[in-house]
Amino acid sequence: MTEPVAVVTGGNRGIGREVGRQLAARGHTVVLTARDLAAASSAAGGMAGPGAVVPFRLDVTSADDASALADFVRAEYGRLDVLVNNAAIHYDTWQRAASADLDVVREAAETNVYGPWRLAMTLLPLLRASAHPRIVNVSSEGGSLASMGGGTPAYSLTKAALNAVTRMLAAELRRDRILVNSICPGWVATDMGGPGGRPVADGAAGIVWAATLPDDGPTGGFFRDARPVPW
Ligand code: NDP
Repeated sequence: MTEPVAVVTGGNRGIGREVGRQLAARGHTVVLTARDLAAASSAAGGMAGPGAVVPFRLDVTSADDASALADFVRAEYGRLDVLVNNAAIHYDTWQRAASADLDVVREAAETNVYGPWRLAMTLLPLLRASAHPRIVNVSSEGGSLASMGGGTPAYSLTKAALNAVTRMLAAELRRDRILVNSICPGWVATDMGGPGGRPVADGAAGIVWAATLPDDGPTGGFFRDARPVPW
């Protein structure tokens, strides 16, 4: 098949679902993953294509799930063109850095840092088989050291760490032509963002931009709406 193949995590709702919809609208085959297969199927059923949208069960904290996803993508497509690490938890607005619950921080790290990192490593052989491979780590300006305060410690720490993963992978995978970037979607009206944020379509657009960069596009960067954000 010639259509690009994309994997999106946390694709059942919010920004992940919209990224899946936009990629399918551009003709990508989208493996829309969620930790609840019924939720992934329901979200996939609401998408119009023209690219196929294939639901798949994936909890990003599970190494077994990551391996099962790699087996599926290898058997079905033989390669992977785009990985969108979107799933995240614990926008911990109830915590401060000087009184943080470190169990919450550890739990956030499993989903927001080790999950996307492990998934990228597990899918790497399939990304190397692509002619135009891209990894998009959905981050947040909350992880920017340039503007970091004491609020949302689990979230901010794990997004800063995810940005470090972006930098390390981008440097190491440059020789494989894999473009790796962190994207902040801005404040978006989702379950996590709450009401008042901008529409999901706007937040997702910057992620789709990074997923469809040309071969001479940036790598190892941090962007919102296709413009650099300070680390
Ligand atoms: P939501 O809370 O609306 O959705 C989070 C998604 O992540 C859900 O699909 C959820 O699945 C999934 N998820 C959580 N844990 C896991 C897991 N262990 N395995 C697989 N999936 C999991 O968040 P948003 O859509 O708002 O956020 C998407 C991304 O954008 C996140 O990385 C977030 O940090 C980032 N972001 C969002 C902003 C905003 O204003 N909304 C601002 C800046 C960044 P389930 O339904 O099963 O819980």
